[in-house]
Amino acid sequence: MSNSHILELENVMKIYKTGDIVFEALRGVSLVVESGQWVAIQGPSGSGKSTLLNLIGCLDRPTSGRILIEGVDVSKINDNKLAEIRGGKIGFIFQMYNLIPSLTVVENILLPTSFIKKLRKTDVKQRTEEIMKRLGISHLKDRFPSKLSGGETQRVTIARALINEPSLILADEPTGNLDTSTGSEIAKLFKDIHEQGETIILVTHDNEFARKAEKIYVLRDGELKTQGR
Ligand code: ADP
Repeated sequence: MSNSHILELENVMKIYKTGDIVFEALRGVSLVVESGQWVAIQGPSGSGKSTLLNLIGCLDRPTSGRILIEGVDVSKINDNKLAEIRGGKIGFIFQMYNLIPSLTVVENILLPTSFIKKLRKTDVKQRTEEIMKRLGISHLKDRFPSKLSGGETQRVTIARALINEPSLILADEPTGNLDTSTGSEIAKLFKDIHEQGETIILVTHDNEFARKAEKIYVLRDGELKTQGR
């Protein structure tokens, strides 16, 4: 395997069983994402996008097939190891990973660092300040999430995703709840982050946003296809 592959999926299947009902949510998905690449995944509701992101984000395991993150097969490792990879290698910009209301902006951004023991406090402080500056949110550092606009909230979420220097950023509809102009500001931020070298997997319904990515995939009925570009 080439070292430039951050992520490889080989024939990944995910089958949900509810009582007697068996549902194939992913039917043999294969995908390679290179270091520094930005890919977008589109597809109708129910096509398996969240299922796919949950598997890549080590929040769930495939029924069969392999998922390699920087060469490590995460489909078979134990829960502790999975949590370690999730905390150290993945930056989430998910709706379900909302900010914690009782923590300030800076405390929310710092939260993922508590899972990584080897980080030095001074380095973390400096890094937090740099990231907040980069995202234009330094002035919001002591605010609570309830006092932030939608766009500000999403910037804080992005800052939190970047704090651990993840190998891979996973974003699920990051502009889904924003008005058009705030949405395009966030889309532009993604472009900046990508230009700074981050590897991004973005799920979005917004075609214009998806077109900023280098490659667009479409999921339909659990099957992933490239959209010719
Ligand atoms: P999308 O994100 O594209 O809307 P999902 O990955 O959420 O699609 O869902 C794909 C399909 O799998 C849907 O038909 C959904 O009902 C089903 N599904 C998702 N999660 C579960 C689950 N935990 N148990 C059973 N079925 C599920």
